[in-house]
Amino acid sequence: MTSVTTARLLIVGPQGSGKGTQGVRIAEAFGIPVVSTGDVFRANIKEGTPLGRQVKAIVDGGDLVPDELTSEIVRDRLSQDDAAHGFLLDGYPRNAQQVAHLEEFLAARGESLDAVIELVVPREESLERLRLRAEEQGRSDDTDAGIAHRLDIYERETAPILAAYGEQGIVDRIDGVGSLDEITTRIIAALEARGLERRTAA
Ligand code: ADP
Repeated sequence: MTSVTTARLLIVGPQGSGKGTQGVRIAEAFGIPVVSTGDVFRANIKEGTPLGRQVKAIVDGGDLVPDELTSEIVRDRLSQDDAAHGFLLDGYPRNAQQVAHLEEFLAARGESLDAVIELVVPREESLERLRLRAEEQGRSDDTDAGIAHRLDIYERETAPILAAYGEQGIVDRIDGVGSLDEITTRIIAALEARGLERRTAA
């Protein structure tokens, strides 16, 4: 098994699949930063920055922030030193246009994604978890209508990007139903099978 010293990862899954939680755990195991576009937007909205004011209505409505703006934010973040040998993208790219932007950016640096983790969770299970999250966290976009709208966008725009990455042979389909630890273990096993090296012990 050849070892891969970089860990350039993308985690994809429907809303409520647990990709945010798993993303943090995987990033920690591989010693790489998480780049979550949703977190960036929410932090900016909370702080009332110009970016936050620009995107608040879009995010609250469950729509996608314009691709060019989102891609610009990701390019800036990936250009920082801590992302030189790896990163875990959560929530980006989310459609074909963003895939093209990311590929172009990485190719210019002679880089490419090492693996795409697809968390597979049935829609009913996602909906149930999101209802719970709405009660616990009160996220302003977690209304019934907002959730259904984001899941529709996921199925229409985001799920298809997996086919493109699948052709590159870099997608690991992971069963996203089970305990948090079980799912983390499944993901790490799949990445290690690709020769990616984790930083922390089991
Ligand atoms: P969820 O997966 O539950 O939709 P996220 O935190 O990934 O939550 O995203 C929350 C919102 O932030 C999205 O509904 C969208 O408005 C905005 N957003 C996040 N990532 C992107 C992206 N890559 N492109 C456009 N908008 C995005």
